[in-house]
Amino acid sequence: MDDVSPTAPLISVVIPLYNEGSHLRELLADLKRPLQDVGCRFEVVLVDDGSFDDTWTKVKDEARIWPDLRAIRLSRNFGKELALCAGLERARGNAVIVMDGDGQHPPSLLPLLIKNWRTSGADVVEAVKRRRGRESLASKFGALTFYVILNKLSGFDLKGASDFKLIDRRVLDMWLAMHERNVFFRGMTAWMGFRTIQVPFEVGPRRAGKSGWSYLRRAKLALIGITTFSSFPLHLVTFAGVIFFLFAVGLGIQTLYLKLAGRAFTGFATVILLELIIGSLLMISLGIIGEYLARIYEEVKGRPRYIVAESIDLADSETRLPPATVVPRPADHG
Ligand code: UDP
Ligand code: MG
Repeated sequence: MDDVSPTAPLISVVIPLYNEGSHLRELLADLKRPLQDVGCRFEVVLVDDGSFDDTWTKVKDEARIWPDLRAIRLSRNFGKELALCAGLERARGNAVIVMDGDGQHPPSLLPLLIKNWRTSGADVVEAVKRRRGRESLASKFGALTFYVILNKLSGFDLKGASDFKLIDRRVLDMWLAMHERNVFFRGMTAWMGFRTIQVPFEVGPRRAGKSGWSYLRRAKLALIGITTFSSFPLHLVTFAGVIFFLFAVGLGIQTLYLKLAGRAFTGFATVILLELIIGSLLMISLGIIGEYLARIYEEVKGRPRYIVAESIDLADSETRLPPATVVPRPADHG
């Protein structure tokens, strides 16, 4: 990388890490090789998302021998989306590449992403999964259902989309201007539009460890994805209300008619069924409204999206608090 011109574009590679200590060295070695021949300058921004293994120690070791490495450690596990966000806020490059730190996103694809960015003038170069990696059937089914629902509700087709992509500075700046707390990176970049080209890639196996996403976390992210990208479920509540109102009018007229005609009797099953249907519909409606209320509540609180505990070569604002200075108090002398 020594012969790269100082005016060459700077590429930031942002990688969130959650318990990836066991293979961090290999990951960075794999990263350096393809980057060497591209003719760009590089920086790597690692975000330790509150790992409980030795990830941060390994990051510090690597930073000692690789000056282009910058890193932060979050004070606890904030989840991948927010870890990404922390990294993106610190990236200084003309373009930023976002990738996973578990080896599933092959670094050998980086030159192709960069080449496409430089030659095509696209603002986003997206690596799309040719096939989903080895996953359980339930996980595949869950992901498919989520993408279908999201597509129907929001109009964005995210099937095959991954968090492995290159985005231009322009896009990043726009992305950074979105201050929402419920971050869904994939969806937000799709929402922004911009000229996007796709490069297919094969998802590799995880290098070690296991996915940091439980089914519950995936479901939570799916819920955030849906509620932050579409208010359709809310309209659905209104829609269901209208349908039931029409139904109620019809049934009301019939009931009145039977009553007036002196034929009002039976109908016990109808009453029970109506109770059950309306009861569950009300619950679901309240739940849907509650989901949006929760999103609003999270946004309104306005808490920081994440908290940085330590940083390496990111000496600006977020380093640890300076040691408290002892201010001599006049009373101490008397
Ligand atoms: N990750 C993270 N915080 C988390 C979970 C995951 O920063 O709470 C990182 C993880 O280290 C990896 C990337 O996000 O670099 C993708 O995570 P994982 O491989 O667990 O997700 P999957 O590939 O199963 O979608
Ligand atoms: Mg993975």
